[in-house]
Amino acid sequence: MAKQDTHSFDGATTTADGMMYNGFLCKPIIDKCEGCDRVRPFEDQNYCYSFPQPASKWAMGRCNFATHMKTETKAQGKVNPLKASKRASKGK
Ligand code: SF4
Repeated sequence: MAKQDTHSFDGATTTADGMMYNGFLCKPIIDKCEGCDRVRPFEDQNYCYSFPQPASKWAMGRCNFATHMKTETKAQGKVNPLKASKRASKGK
C-alpha cells in the first residue's frame, strides 16, 4: 500500500515570483536538494515543504534537514577509526 503524502501543497497558487503557499512565497528546489524526501511537486516545479527558499538554506553550508545527506553523514560518523583498524587487522 502506498504511503499517504501528508505534505502536499494543497491550496497553493502560482504567482509571477514563485509558488504562494500558506502565506509564504516558495522558490523551487536547487540541484543539491535532488533526492531529499522533503521535495514535493507542484504544477511543473519541485518545492521543499520545510523551507520556502531552499537556495538560502544551502547558502551557509549543508541543509540540516536534507534527508538524503543525513544518511550519508550518519554512516560516516559511526566509523570509529580505532575499531575499524582492529577489524581490518583481524581479517588478515
Ligand atoms: S529539506 Fe533542505 S535539502 Fe531537502 S528539499 Fe528542503 S532545502 Fe532542499
